[in-house]
Amino acid sequence: MKAFKFDLVLQNSRWQKDTFVTLNDTGRIENISTEKPVDIDIEEVKGYCLPGFQNSHSHAFQYAMAGLAEIHPNSSKSDDFWSWRETMYKIALSINPDQLEAIATMLYAEMLRHGYTHVAEFHYLHHDKEGKHFENKSEMGERLLSAAQNAGINITLVPMFYQKGGFGISAQPQQRRFISKDLDGYLSLMEASSRSVAKFEFAKLGQGFHSLRAVDDENIRAFFEQNLGDISFHIHIAEQLKEVDECIAYYGKRPVEWLLENTPVDNDFHLIHATHLTDQETIGIARSGAYVVLCPSTEGNLGDGFFPLKKYQEVGGKWSLGTDSHVGLSPMEELRILDYGQRLTTHHRNQIISKTNGDSGHFGYDMALLSGRAAMGDLTNDYFKVGESFNAIVIDSGHPLIGTSQLKTLLSTLIYTGDSSFLLGTITNGDWMVKYNRHLHFKKFTSNFKKVMSTLKIR
Ligand SMILES: [Zn+2]
Repeated sequence: MKAFKFDLVLQNSRWQKDTFVTLNDTGRIENISTEKPVDIDIEEVKGYCLPGFQNSHSHAFQYAMAGLAEIHPNSSKSDDFWSWRETMYKIALSINPDQLEAIATMLYAEMLRHGYTHVAEFHYLHHDKEGKHFENKSEMGERLLSAAQNAGINITLVPMFYQKGGFGISAQPQQRRFISKDLDGYLSLMEASSRSVAKFEFAKLGQGFHSLRAVDDENIRAFFEQNLGDISFHIHIAEQLKEVDECIAYYGKRPVEWLLENTPVDNDFHLIHATHLTDQETIGIARSGAYVVLCPSTEGNLGDGFFPLKKYQEVGGKWSLGTDSHVGLSPMEELRILDYGQRLTTHHRNQIISKTNGDSGHFGYDMALLSGRAAMGDLTNDYFKVGESFNAIVIDSGHPLIGTSQLKTLLSTLIYTGDSSFLLGTITNGDWMVKYNRHLHFKKFTSNFKKVMSTLKIR
């Protein structure tokens, strides 16, 4: 048993002063109280404690190319998502399991430093370089789980069903590492992934399709005819206008329109991006209970477009955040980009709010946290709850803006002015993983990452 004492702890809608959090030996919360526990070692922390952010969408291997796609030698030629994707494929084809693990470990350590304590890994790099199964079909997924364990982040592994090269198009040779030939192939990958997840203490399993264009309608139907179990379902959808046009040409419907009409969309569904929506589709997602996962820095980087957030929130839509390609890793920055995109296009400031919560910082944080937990397969609504693992970030009360804020503006000060330098550290499952902006194993992880980058000659 041990205990922390924090100056403030955020408990849903209120900050509780001078609070003790007592943990058992596995890092689960035994008690949260303003009364001092007796006969237990207490660590006094000069900071404000709140639940860690949830990163609902990650492709770990893409961290290797973060920042590399900004040089455009042929300025007369248009550069867009699809040319970026060719570069991404080249990297996907070159990475072996050891290299993936080193890249993901570095990335996850950096996520923790920025304030994320749980990541959903949208995983489709399944096979070896020739496109054959590894002996353990979930070898690559297991390396991601191992990376998460090394770094100390909680993970939900979401192995993707990826079958086709596009609507009505066979898989292309450069997609060979992603492909399950049919539903049976995907289900056996899921079985192997489930066995892998069971080996790790702080891991969960999700499921999903890479996108509507990546699985044919026969297999989509067959997938939803089986018992899906009680796990979250993730899918990329309506990110790019070209994809919307191709879907209309193939199905005669827009992607979200088709999904709502042909699949049992409900609150297990997490629609990644959903950028291009009609009003009807926007209302349809909200009414279904499904969630949207917004990845503002990546969507901005790839020129995807603006999600209709205001309309979606008005009809009760729920959303969380993901860092996707990892060009940005700060949850505060993701929230700001999301909000400012809406402000710039509507010419109004109050975009991330609801009828009952007019505090942009708190509303955005609360939405991203609780919807993010749902994306992980965790439906806990209490910020901190007795019996749950203790996963938290601690804001530095010595920071000039933080230390002089009133309680009601504290969270907005963090979200609208902050970055990782505002944090004293990150705690997962009861232990400090990051302190003073540095991961416990930063040196080792960086050295491994550098070796892999020099072998791969990517950077
Ligand atoms: Zn993605």
